[in-house]
Amino acid sequence: MHKLTKTNFLQYLACPEELWLAMNTGGHPTTPSLSALHMMEQGNLIDGLGRTYFEDNFAAEIAENGSEARFQESFETDQFLVRADMLAVNDQANSLVLYEVKATTSSKSDHILDVAFQKMVIASTGYTVERCYLVYLDKNYVLDDELMLPELFVVEDVSDQVNEAYQGVKAAAAAAFAYINGPEPARRITVGCGNKLQCAFVAYHYTDLPSYPVHDIARINVKKLEALVLDNILDIMEVPADFKLSRPQRLQVDIAQRNQVIIDHKAIAKELENLVYPLYFLDYETFAYAVPFQNGHRPYQQLLFQYSLHVIQSPGAAISHHEYLLRDKQELVSQLLFSLRENMDAESGTVLVWNKSFEQGRNKECADIYPAYADFLLSVNDRVYDLRDVFQKGFYLHPGFKGKTSLKSVLPVLCPELSYETLAIQNGGEANIKWHHWTEGQFQGDENDSTKEALLAYCELDTWAMVRIWQELEQVTRPGSAGNGPR
Ligand code: SF4
Repeated sequence: MHKLTKTNFLQYLACPEELWLAMNTGGHPTTPSLSALHMMEQGNLIDGLGRTYFEDNFAAEIAENGSEARFQESFETDQFLVRADMLAVNDQANSLVLYEVKATTSSKSDHILDVAFQKMVIASTGYTVERCYLVYLDKNYVLDDELMLPELFVVEDVSDQVNEAYQGVKAAAAAAFAYINGPEPARRITVGCGNKLQCAFVAYHYTDLPSYPVHDIARINVKKLEALVLDNILDIMEVPADFKLSRPQRLQVDIAQRNQVIIDHKAIAKELENLVYPLYFLDYETFAYAVPFQNGHRPYQQLLFQYSLHVIQSPGAAISHHEYLLRDKQELVSQLLFSLRENMDAESGTVLVWNKSFEQGRNKECADIYPAYADFLLSVNDRVYDLRDVFQKGFYLHPGFKGKTSLKSVLPVLCPELSYETLAIQNGGEANIKWHHWTEGQFQGDENDSTKEALLAYCELDTWAMVRIWQELEQVTRPGSAGNGPR
């Protein structure tokens, strides 16, 4: 008989099938992903800081009131098991106050369900849960030399929300317990899940999924997806011609089914004509951590730790490359900004990026923290051109993009000679966690050098990929143009 924990309960609410599989067949991968481990690490860090905050600020008052502060105490019934982060327990009165620590910057509906589940289990063991609090990070907290825990944490009384959710949680928890101990759920494809079939349950039951499923139709709504799935249409190649879709969705399906490439040469040429030399191809890597470690930063604020920049000074000129990587967590971002400013004209030249809101957002934040660089960074923002626009505006449509416009979807189609798959670091999430571990001193000997090289190679490919895509667009729209300058 499996007991249900609060984590299982929330997993059940998200997707019962996946939970059943994980609990009954070991259907989840046994090794958690790098990002899952990173989330756990941050959760543990915040739990520890929350405890220190609680001990320093509440424990004395709790003792004066005849209660005792307790941490990570377990409560168990025949069906359920919980471990409470922090409690103020009055054993004489058989009552307690519950504090749940979250490594987030706001309270979320899931947190209320989590606390209501804990309250239900604790109440079943004979205690009266008098009040419930969430303890989480203040998103407006700004680090100024020393970490101030009373300012870092927010304590919110969620007793009323928990009471409102209580009966529903009780019923759902009973159903969840029966479900995980019940028969194997039938094989089925569901809809409306953000995982888009990337889950253990689907992988376990469906080894022959189409490589381009209907779930990949951009922004398809649940109702339409459901209609297709119920009709057993999983492959985008089988979507009927009379199935109602939006114009862009129909176009995506049509070009997939006809294996057709659509290029609006005129529109692309017009976009490219507006670019002004020198051309700068810029990409940032950032790291968002629960606890800020550089002055001026807030919880989870993206810290800019690396840039890569390819530069083409004039048509046909050789392409140069510049980069900077912060070597430790105390090295100020201003060092990186200094390097970037050294390698860019302060006022002229188009800055090509992929997904401009990201680079522009970081520039705005850095301009606030480092006013000496504000003019330069705001000028960069004024000169940004988002190369992704060509694809997002539908000027270049290719079945190989599979309806996506990310750099990693476009690059292998336009420049098949380039690939992230040969790199030691293959995506941004991996890059920022590796940087975190590298600067924490978690690697030994050669691993330090290889990690640094891998970080540099990954970011460089991001900007080189943009250069190559721009060159391909130049070739397509203006054959023989100066786009293909030597590297
Ligand atoms: S794809 Fe389906 S089975 Fe997999 S997690 Fe989503 S809803 Fe659950």
